[in-house]
Amino acid sequence: MLNKRQFYINGKWIDPVKKNDFEVINPSNENSYAVISLGSKEDVNNAVEYAKEAFLTWSQVDKLIKINLLEKLLKIYKSRWNDITKTMSEEMGAPIDWSSSAQTSSGFDHISDFIKRLKNFKFEREFDHRSNNYIIYEPIGVCGLITPWNWPINQITLKVIPALAAGCTMILKPSEIAPLSGILFAEIIEEAGFPPGVFNLINGDGEGVGTDLSSHPDIDMISFTGSTRAGKLISKNSAESIKRVCLELGGKGGNIIFSDSHPEAVREGVRNIMSNSGQSCDAPTRMLVEKSIYKRAIEEAADEANKIEVDLASKKGNHIGPVISKKQYDKIIDLIKSGIEQGARLIAGGPEKPKGLEKGYFVKPTIFTDVSNDMRIAKEEIFGPVLSIIPFENENEAVSIVNDTSYGLGNYVQTKDKDKARRVAKKFRSGGVYINGNSADPGTPFGGYRQSGNGREGGNWGLEEYLEVKTICGWD
Ligand code: NAD
Repeated sequence: MLNKRQFYINGKWIDPVKKNDFEVINPSNENSYAVISLGSKEDVNNAVEYAKEAFLTWSQVDKLIKINLLEKLLKIYKSRWNDITKTMSEEMGAPIDWSSSAQTSSGFDHISDFIKRLKNFKFEREFDHRSNNYIIYEPIGVCGLITPWNWPINQITLKVIPALAAGCTMILKPSEIAPLSGILFAEIIEEAGFPPGVFNLINGDGEGVGTDLSSHPDIDMISFTGSTRAGKLISKNSAESIKRVCLELGGKGGNIIFSDSHPEAVREGVRNIMSNSGQSCDAPTRMLVEKSIYKRAIEEAADEANKIEVDLASKKGNHIGPVISKKQYDKIIDLIKSGIEQGARLIAGGPEKPKGLEKGYFVKPTIFTDVSNDMRIAKEEIFGPVLSIIPFENENEAVSIVNDTSYGLGNYVQTKDKDKARRVAKKFRSGGVYINGNSADPGTPFGGYRQSGNGREGGNWGLEEYLEVKTICGWD
């Protein structure tokens, strides 16, 4: 059993104030293989004191010093690529090749891009050449960063790097069920040589450390990625101290496939939802297919799902791995059963475990057709490899079905008609739109409308989340 009980506070690895062990489980085999500590209010208070003290100097540090440290961090990150990849694969079940090419590489891309943004960011700006007013961007202060388990390093780098670049100090709380990549990331920060107290790591659960961070009067901002449920609690707990709250929450993406789409559009949509075992907030979980191609689309979708292999995360290949936990497994199976009970037609997968994978939290790639948008499988975020296919007659109907959700993170459209694609993209109520399988470039803003959250991560937008803006009148 790996002993990972210590926290990283004020530049040192230290024991928690109170002993409270928590076992980390490998979802491929259900075995506990590491033990961490769940922190307490006392641990949070200690870290906040050090972060407050470190803010006095780090907030004033020259941009060049920050760039040098971040470039050093990037180099160390690259040198530990295989460790990061293996750690995420074990803790959250990402197959090893996918863990490297998608999970570890996303962190590398975010660090590289934020260095570029920092180099070009103007922290001081003239307001208008005729005005004697002057605008200054300053770090907001001490930040609490709470991250999820589905894209662990992606989310950590999307928060920690812009916070460091802005001149903030911080306490990171990774997900307690996939905490080991966060610990490894703290080792990388330590090796890069950031001053003590700038970056601190405390492990813990949502009810404990998560709540202590959100309600702490001396924390100026919380950045959170995870469930809408936790996002609401964090907002309430943060309200008393009026801290800034940035939330990246759930999603229920729609993918409109018009009859003039590229011939691979349906298969691509299936592969897209199944990747990361369906555990992505912007996954295209509802496929809307124009009625004239509905029959062909169903056949292709079932065929594609049946081709997707499910296997152990440690194996090389392009299969999908298990879902993260027993809790998630049970939730997904319950939703699959609800789809059957509510009259949707199952055309691939189902609630049984894949053959030969009785141990581990494995779910078959599952597809329902004849789904209506009021069924639970079309409304609730499943966060598993489950796709709902819904037929439509015309563009307006399709757009209104996609927008008929409390979420608004990522939506998709497939058509060869550029005008139609752009028209539909503008009508979607979501923070991201993906036309014909195109993906977002590093540095573009990522975030949601409505209950998918507020604020944006990535690029200059992500950097500005961690900054206050000051107007100085009479500068000249
Ligand atoms: P969760 O939101 O409970 O956990 C994510 C993070 O939030 C963890 O670090 C957790 O410790 C923390 N947290 C939980 N409650 C908190 C609270 N009250 N205050 C502060 N922090 C808190 O998610 P989960 O229970 O692991 O998963 C449930 C569902 O959430 C999933 O099925 C999925 O639908 C959704 N989810 C979405 C994302 C995303 O990227 N948007 C990520 C993970 C989970």
